[in-house]
Amino acid sequence: MNWWRRWRRARTLSQRAIPEPLWQLTLARFPFLACRADTDLARLRELSTLFLADKEFAGMQGLQVSDEMAVAIAAQACLPVLHLGLDWYDSFKGIVVHPDVVVARREHVDEDGIVHHYDEELSGEAMAGGPLMLSWHDVAEAGVSAQWGYNVVVHEFVHVLDLRDGLADGTPAIADREARAHWQQIIEAEYQVFCNRIDADEETLLDPYGAESVDEFFAVVSEVFFVAPADLLEEHPRMYELLRGFYRQDPRQHRRSAE
Ligand SMILES: [Zn+2]
Repeated sequence: MNWWRRWRRARTLSQRAIPEPLWQLTLARFPFLACRADTDLARLRELSTLFLADKEFAGMQGLQVSDEMAVAIAAQACLPVLHLGLDWYDSFKGIVVHPDVVVARREHVDEDGIVHHYDEELSGEAMAGGPLMLSWHDVAEAGVSAQWGYNVVVHEFVHVLDLRDGLADGTPAIADREARAHWQQIIEAEYQVFCNRIDADEETLLDPYGAESVDEFFAVVSEVFFVAPADLLEEHPRMYELLRGFYRQDPRQHRRSAE
């Protein structure tokens, strides 16, 4: 980091620090954040401050994005990059927040060239170059929905990590070729097993939506890693190990109190 960036960072952290009551409120709402070790929480708070200074929030359909809402989004968004760094989110600025899910009109052209229209309900959406879209209703419920391993913020920001190299392929930009090959081998194998289980109508810990494609699988499995790590470790130990290596953190080991 050059002197200018260091100076700007120090200035942001001192002048725009998240107020203590607001930070404590955020932790109280999202227990999967609050249970982290103190060192992680201090780091998360700093990253969230820098994230808020860098990103631009826009409320849609009359929604006003309050400080409380922005901090809730920032804190959850910074969890995946806690030990990777905010540079991973450099590709976009805008975060668009809707009050609830958005119905998107989709078009699909079949093999015979016939165009089909259908509606898709979106609780979030990430695209290359941004902006990133979120349903506030889903974000606000994250403390409760963690028990099902659901987290829309983590999901969409993992897509951002995946898209960083320009490809939505379930493989983030891992510089080391060997590590990258290892990643692809494990995630493809785990994805296939998961698809087979979904095809067989089995009950799964992971959201069946993860069977859509390997990039959705990466996003869905990461949600559980961050908000219900013990469950993921038990059901998908190889996937847990792979994510622990990539994210450079172990959400289980950092628990403040023993589970
Ligand atoms: Zn997705």
